[in-house]
Order: sequence, then C-alpha cells, then structure tokens
Amino acid sequence: MEEIQEKWEAFSPATGEKIGDLEPTPLSSIPHLYTKSRQSFQSWSKLSISERLYHFRQLRLLMVKRMDEIAEVISKDTGKVKIEALVADIMPTIDAIKHIEKHANKALSTKKVGTPLLLIGKKSFIEFMPRGTVLVISPWNYPLQLAMVPILNALAAGNTVIAKPSEVTPLVGVCIENLFVEAGFPKDTIQFAHGGKELGAALTEQKPDYIFFTGSVRTGKMIGEVAAKQLIPTTLELGGKDPMIVLRDANLERAVNGALWGAFTNSGQVCMSVERVYVERPVYQEFLALLKEKTRSMRQGTELKDDIGSMTFPAQVDIVAGHLEDALNKGAILESGKEPKEWGTGETHFIPPIILSNVDHSMRIMNEETFGPVLPVVPFDSEEEVVALANGSEYGLNSSVWTIDKEKARRIASQLVTGAVTINDVLVTVANHHLPFGGTKQSGIGRYHGEQGMKIFCHEKAIMEDSGRKNTEIQWYPYEGKYTSFLSLFQNYFSSKPNWFEFGKDYLKLIKISKAKRKD
Ligand code: NAD
Repeated sequence: MEEIQEKWEAFSPATGEKIGDLEPTPLSSIPHLYTKSRQSFQSWSKLSISERLYHFRQLRLLMVKRMDEIAEVISKDTGKVKIEALVADIMPTIDAIKHIEKHANKALSTKKVGTPLLLIGKKSFIEFMPRGTVLVISPWNYPLQLAMVPILNALAAGNTVIAKPSEVTPLVGVCIENLFVEAGFPKDTIQFAHGGKELGAALTEQKPDYIFFTGSVRTGKMIGEVAAKQLIPTTLELGGKDPMIVLRDANLERAVNGALWGAFTNSGQVCMSVERVYVERPVYQEFLALLKEKTRSMRQGTELKDDIGSMTFPAQVDIVAGHLEDALNKGAILESGKEPKEWGTGETHFIPPIILSNVDHSMRIMNEETFGPVLPVVPFDSEEEVVALANGSEYGLNSSVWTIDKEKARRIASQLVTGAVTINDVLVTVANHHLPFGGTKQSGIGRYHGEQGMKIFCHEKAIMEDSGRKNTEIQWYPYEGKYTSFLSLFQNYFSSKPNWFEFGKDYLKLIKISKAKRKD
C-alpha cells in the first residue's frame, strides 16, 4: 500500500465516486499520542468496572440510533452491500458491547481461588490489572467490528487505546472515532491515528503495552518481530484458507446454500470464508450442478436487492486474478463466472462469483489465501483422505463439516486443526461472543471474544495473603533438623492414602523447630 500523502481522498470501490477528504495523522504526533494515552490511563484505569460500563451503554444506544447511517458509511467505503454492513459488521459489534456490559464485572473482578493445605492459613486471589496503552491495528474487510471489538475489550479492562484503522476504509475509521467522542468517552482514553502502514509501523515502535493486530500473515510477522524485540505481548489474528467438507448424507440443498454464502459473502473477503470445498464423490456432481445453478441467480451491484457488492481493495483484485490464472493454466475448469480478462477495468472493482472444478493442491488457489469470490470444488473418497486434505494447509482459522450424522460430524470436527469448526453451518462462531476466536498455524496467535477477550488485556496478578500474626513459616530458616520431617510430611501428603495423624505430627514438629531458638 502507498503511504498516505497530505491530500487524502477516499473513493468508493463500487462506484468510483469520491466519498470524502481526510487528514492523515502526522508521524511526528505519535509520541504525543502515547503521552496523552498514558496520562488518561491514570484516571480511566482507576474507575470501577461499572463506571466504565456506563460509557459502553451510551455508545450502544448511540449506535442503535445511528445504525442505518453507519451501514451507509461502511457500504460506501468498502463496496459491500448495505445488508452485509448491517448484519455482519454492525450487529456483531453492538452484540460485543452488550456482552461486555453483561459479563465484564464478573470476568474482571478479583477472584478468590483455592489454597493448598500445605500453605494452611493463607488466602489466594487473582487480580486483573490493566496493562496500560493498547495499540489496535485493524484491516479493511470488516472495518467496524475488527477495530471496535478489540478496542472495547481493552477499554473495559481499564486500558487506554490507540487505534489505527485501515487506510483502505478510512471513512469507517473516522466514523468510529466520532462515535466514541459523541458517546462521551473521557478524552484520550481512545485516540485514533489515521494513515497507512508507515504510521502503523511507527506506532508499534513506541513501546505500547500490548499490540492487538488483525490483518495479513505478512504484516503479522513484521509486527511480531518488532514486538519480540521489546517483549511486547501481542494477539495476531491473521488469514485463512478454510475448508468445507460435505459428506454424502448431508442436506445438499442446505450445504449448497451454505457454500454460496460462506464463499461469496463480502465478495469472499472474509478471513473465515469458505476457500475450498471437498464433496464426497457420490454427491459431487449433484452438488456442483446445484451450486452452479444458484451462483448464476445471484445479483451483483450496490442496491438493497443485490447479493454481492464490489471488492474493497483494488490490489486484492490482482491477487484473485493471479490465483485464478494459475489454476486455469494448470487445467482448472471455470464452471461459473468469468476469466480475469473479462472482469472489466476502471474505477469499479466487481468480480463475478466464480466456481472452479478439476483443481488440485498443486495450484495456488488451493494453498494461498485468495480473499475473493472464488470457490474451488474437489471430490473425495474417504474420511481419512478429506481430513488430510483439509489439514494440509499452512492456515488453520475455521472449517466446516456437513452431515446429518452427529457422531461422524463431531469425530471429523475434532480432527481438524483449526481455531473453530462449524457443523452444518459456516462462519457463525465469530458471532457468538461466548466462544473464543482465533487461529492455529499461520492463522494467528492468541484468542479473543468472551471472557478471554477482556482478560488478554490484563496482567493476571497472583495475590497471597497471610494474616501476619505468626512470626515465622516452617520452610523459612533455620533448616537444621527439618529435612527428615519435610520428607516424611510430603511422602505422606502425596501418597494414595495420607495418614492425617502422622501429617499433623510432622507439621507440629516443623513448627516447633522453626520457633526454637538456636543454642550455638
Ligand atoms: P494488512 O496486513 O495489509 O493490513 C492490516 C493493517 O495493518 C492495516 O491497518 C495496515 O495499515 C497495517 N499495517 C500494514 N503494515 C504494517 C506494519 N509494518 N506495521 C504496522 N501496521 C501495518 O491486511 P489487510 O489487507 O488490511 O487485511 C486483509 C488480511 O486480514 C487478510 O489476510 C485476512 O485474512 C486478514 N484478516 C484476519 C482476520 C482474523 O480475525 N483472523 C479478520 C479479518 C481479516
């Protein structure tokens, strides 16, 4: 991506029209952003959780009021159809606020935990201490939720946040900033830096206390390197090449409808989209025929009646074209859609939904993240084979299994090395904030959503409390005369049938030695 110059104009990728003028955040202001963030941390972190949640409620109600306006901004800035902005970007964000409002108090309050008998008389607690300034860097495909959900979790846990939304969808970044201001969040608790990758890189260099990154594997690795040098903890939410497995006994109509939506929603620009589908050979032809028929009836455009919008990021169109050309050159068959040379050029960026057959794992389309509306369909013969094919990827974000046999579905699901599996459904785990979200292998490091989503932004502090009345402890000095008593005490304590009378005797003996004055 080009670094943003002083004159920054935003254009709609679906219509080519100019949709806004922006002011990039100067690199020179970064130290000041951090100073302000650290100052506001002093007051925000000291608020009670309920006091912080007051602002969350205000934000939720504001977003409910502005829902249609927000959908309009997202749709213009990304080229996605408005219903997708509403259902898959705005709704999960507001649901995350609601989840935090409901669960933050329980998740983040100090917890009393057990204390082993050997440490008799003490109490143990876990305190959730905010980390400080959290840097959130987000991508363009779901520009609202992928920025706001980590920001909200970090704020709920008492951190202050600096956010750098994607430069590809800058109007959504400004929209989020305005929402926080209007909802009345205290000044500088959440600050925005608007700009490109240079700005993002410079922000990571200023030693934030945590980096939450969502984006490509390439950038994730660069951020991981910077973070490792300063020992900054990170969450990396990266790409995917998600498999869908359709067994012969699946509800085929549902599986085809699921494949269509899973592969083509948001023009396939979804980290968890269905990027390859494996169909058991006896139903392969029927599945393919139905898929082609339904694909042909999809409508592409920018109206409320349309199913598929445009691509968001022009450079992504070239990546999709590259994968497709490689596959077609190696013998793939274009079952539906058009070849790249027929996509048209100019200021708009629509790719018609594409179905491919006769593909194999030697093709880029089966290995690399395509992030476009392309679905390769492959037959398979056995459960063992399909599990190996599905797992034969560097990625491991999401996957799905389709069958009416629950036992078989669960058996296959537990063999898939992915962060999530849906059974007879696609993508939907991301919408349930009770579930963890994240990937295996190159798809990322860490999990968020749910209680964990708030706790990652805290140091879990272990606290043990003694009344302070005793003068000493049995394991403190002096050691003389204690070894055999400890040996007997531990052997008894950890045995299959502890003798509590003997345990008590050893314990009292150790106390006695600890209290005795040395004679020499
Ligand atoms: P990207 O990595 O190009 O950019 C993401 C963000 O990082 C942008 O804000 C960008 O400005 C910033 N950035 C770029 N270089 C940087 C650097 N060196 N230091 C700091 N910041 C830098 O990704 P993208 O093209 O915006 O998003 C698409 C990718 O995101 C896809 O691979 C997709 O799978 C992935 N993604 C993952 C998830 C997930 O939750 N796992 C969700 C959505 C998207």
